[in-house]
This record gives sequence, C-alpha cells and structure tokens, in this order.
Amino acid sequence: MEWDLSDLYASPEDPRLFQDLEAALALAQGLDPKDLLKPDRTADLLARYEKALELTYKPLNYASLYFATRTQDPGAKALLDRVRNRYTEVKNRLVPLEVALRKLPEEAFQALLAHPGLMDLRHFLERQRAYAPYTLSEREEELLNLKDLVGKSAWSQFYTEYTGRFRFLVRGQELTEMEVRALRRDPDPEVRREAHQVLYGRLLEEAPTLSAVFNAVYLDYLQDLRLRNYGNPLEPVALRNEVEVRDIEALLSATESFYPLVERYYLWKAKKLGQEKTPSQDLLAPLGGKPKVPFEEAKEMVLEAFRRFSPEVEGIAREFFEKRWIDVYPRPGKRGGAFCSGGLPSTHPYVLLNHTDDLDSAHTLAHELGHGVHFYLARKQRLLNFGASTSLAETASVFAEILLDDLLLERLSGEERTLLLAERVEDAINTLFRQVMYTFFEKRSLLARKEAALSPEAFQKIWQEEQARLYGESVAWTELDQSAWAGIPHFVHYRFYTYSYALGYLVVLALYGRYREEGEAFVPKYLEVLKAGEKTSPKEILAQAGVELASEAFFRYGFGVLEDWIKALP
Ligand SMILES: [Zn+2]
Repeated sequence: MEWDLSDLYASPEDPRLFQDLEAALALAQGLDPKDLLKPDRTADLLARYEKALELTYKPLNYASLYFATRTQDPGAKALLDRVRNRYTEVKNRLVPLEVALRKLPEEAFQALLAHPGLMDLRHFLERQRAYAPYTLSEREEELLNLKDLVGKSAWSQFYTEYTGRFRFLVRGQELTEMEVRALRRDPDPEVRREAHQVLYGRLLEEAPTLSAVFNAVYLDYLQDLRLRNYGNPLEPVALRNEVEVRDIEALLSATESFYPLVERYYLWKAKKLGQEKTPSQDLLAPLGGKPKVPFEEAKEMVLEAFRRFSPEVEGIAREFFEKRWIDVYPRPGKRGGAFCSGGLPSTHPYVLLNHTDDLDSAHTLAHELGHGVHFYLARKQRLLNFGASTSLAETASVFAEILLDDLLLERLSGEERTLLLAERVEDAINTLFRQVMYTFFEKRSLLARKEAALSPEAFQKIWQEEQARLYGESVAWTELDQSAWAGIPHFVHYRFYTYSYALGYLVVLALYGRYREEGEAFVPKYLEVLKAGEKTSPKEILAQAGVELASEAFFRYGFGVLEDWIKALP
C-alpha cells in the first residue's frame, strides 16, 4: 500500500529528471516577449512557455512526493532543494513574458483575444490581465514590494513566530496551540474545559499585542485599496476568485437569513449533552465514539458510494488502488495529514493518506479520492487550463464525502446514525456559517479601522456581537470566548479569505441539490464541471451544469439540503 512514483521518474538518480530541468531552462531563455505583438507567433510562444512549465513541474512533483514519505532522509531533502532551486531559476526566466503580457497595450491584447489560434487560451489571457487596471507604475510597484518586507509581510511573520511560541499547560503536559485546539474535541468534558480555558485565556492576555498586529495589517490594506483605486474592500478577492462583489454580498446575506438553523442545531446538541444551552467549551464536543473501519472496508465503502453515483467515477477511483497512485499507512519519516497532488495533464494525480482505521480516515479517503477524480478528469485540458479555481477547488472532494455519508446513513441505524448526521451538520456549520461570521467580523472591524485604531475591547465587542447573532440563544458563553478572533491567522495573513470556504461549500450543496432532484441525468453535467479544469470561469463552468452561482435558486438548493439534514436529527 505504498505508492509507485516510477510513472514520473525511475528513481532519484534518473538522468531524465535533471535533463528535463535543463531543457526547461533552455526553453525559458528562448522566449521573446516581443512575439506577443505578433499574434501569429503568440500561440507558439505560449506553447513553449507551457512546455517550460511542464518540464519544471514534473521534476518538482516527483521530488516533493519522494520527500513526503522520507522526510528524515538527507538524500530526499537534498534532491528537493536542488530541484526547487532549478525550479525558481526557470520561474524567474518566465517573469519577463508574464509581465509583458500584463502590460501589453490594450489594442495588442485585443488582437490576441481575437486571434483564432489562441481561442482555447482566452480565459488564461484574460486572467493574466485582470489586475492590469489596479497595477501601478513599475517604480511604484517596486517601492511597495520593498516596503511590504517591513510592512505586512513582517507583521505576518511576527504573528506566526510569536503565536507559534505559545505553550499551554494541560494536566502537567506542555502543549502547542495545535495540540490544545485538538483537545477541544476530547471525549472527556474536563479535558475540554481545561483546553478551552488555557487557549482562550492566553489569547485574552495577548489581545493587546495581537490587536496591534491586526491594526497594522488592516491599515496596510486600506492604504492599498486607496493607492490602487479599488472601490470596495471585497473587490481584490472578488477579482482573484472570478466572482462579483455582489455575489459575495449575496452569499453573506443569504447565509445570515439561515442563521436560525445554527441556533436550532446547538439547542439540539445542548439537549444531547443534558444542558439547556451548549456550553461554549463543548461546541466541538463529540457526541459519541468513533466506529472502527479497517482500510479494506473503507476502500470498498468509498468505491461503492462512487459506483452508486457513477460507474465512471468508481472506475477512475479504482485505478488509484490498482496502479498504486496512493500511499496509505503512516510510517516513520512519512509526513502527517493527507493530500492529493494533482500532477499534470501528461501525468496523473497521487494521493497520500495516514490511514488509522477509523471513520474519519474513511472520510479522508473519500475526500482525497474526490480531488483525485477531479484532477484525473481535468487532464482533458492543456496545462495552462488545468486545475481548479478557488470556488471549485473543494467541489469534488466534499461531494465525495457526501456520497459516502449517504451510503453510511443507509447502513447505520439508531444512535450511530444520529451521530453521523450530527457530524455532517457540524461540518456544514463550521465550513459555511462560521466562515461567514468571520467575514462579517472582518468587514466590520476593517471599516472601523478607517476611523481609528481599534482597542482590544473594540475587537472583542464586534466579535461578541457577531457570535451572538450566529448562535442566538443556543450557547452559554464565557468571558474567555470574546478573545477567539485573536487566534484566527486568516485575519492577519489574508484579506477576506474565509468567505471562500462558505461559497465553495454552497457550490457543493447546490450541485448535490440538483443531483437529488435530477438523479442520473445530472451525472454527466457534474462530470463536465470536473473536466472543464480552468478553461473558463467558475461561473461559466457551473452554468453549464445548470447552477447559477450566487443566484436565488443557488441558495435555495444549498440551504434546502442543509435544512433537510437538520430536520432529520431525531
Ligand atoms: Zn481538500
């Protein structure tokens, strides 16, 4: 159950590996940005650009995967370093062409868009240009980049290092933040209470320092908006994710109108816990034990869940096992967690797991194989159109988990079934509703920052209000809960990132809602979404499956599914 990487290169010593990197470098050196002004030559220019990318991605893909199961092996580390250096060199040589494309005179750019030989790269070309109206002069961009090193990048770095040194004492053991956060899901209520106390107690103590970081990065962003002439604080993220500001706003208000579902769920959970309200330290409390699921059983379940949806999807997933594109069990030196590496149109995806024979691991298998099927199908596209945009990045993975749950819910009964239903609802609440609440917090505190720096108490007040709006009367809060905002790194490192989890999740629910309604007829439409890669915008891709992103029907389908899940709780 270890993966076989020989489809990429025979071994780390395979001479083709460095030959590919040399060839990439030579190709990158030969690119003449002036060919962008001659549309007849541009298709060939971009094909060579694409080939240079392919010849560097493939060695990097191999070296990263090789290292992932041998993190303690100095040879694997040295190979990865060497390949990364070469990769950076090639990427640097590609920059002049990328810059020239962004800065091409509008008339010349329109000539490229109109050229029949470049039809299939229209979306790629438009994406490259998207930021042109907000880009300043070369000198100004250079100055901003330099100042970022002591500005927002420095603050991000400080936040990571400073909070990374936090240690928490629980039952005589010194824990990292990751470890103490995990204890909030411990079966023992006393452990959960202690974890809650030390984590949020520390954040409350640190709020004066951490709010200074928030104030600095917020002000930096506000200045950036003004310098670059953005009209709305959501505009940069809308641009990046190829949606409209009004789509994000529609998402926020639609989700808000369904907030009572969250209150309803936590009142239900409180009852299960024998309380009137869910205590805040029990928000993540497990409601029961985790059933054991050996890998063979997990595999058969996932394949069965896929087969019921589409034999084609099942067939693709089967290839991962038969051709050894999957690395299953933990072992010394192997990195933790799980991921799917998408590969290239000319290769194929690989999946890494750390399977531990429980139901969570079975879900992870479904999730990563969902990604795997997505990348597998997206290989219909050339490299410049390969992959998945932000709004669709988690579509196939979460959809696959829902298919697995549907199968499990049919097989389980009584308390086990209730637990699985509750878990599914909690996932939805944390991925969808909570992320929207974060976005409201970020929006309000950013706008307030326009007037003046915010005190820790001002951040706390906005946080408490947003939290209360979301959970209604269903949670018993403590003094400590008002500090949770200070521990959410997204607020420091990115602007308005969290909404994208919510939108991505609603995309899945909307697709699933259509599947429930249309049955088998929907399957080919779904597969087309996955096959589209990044050939067009996520909006156009979804429209072809009959889903109109952020429309009234989109939300009706999505929240309709969710409402049914909550109603099904006994
Ligand atoms: Zn994922």
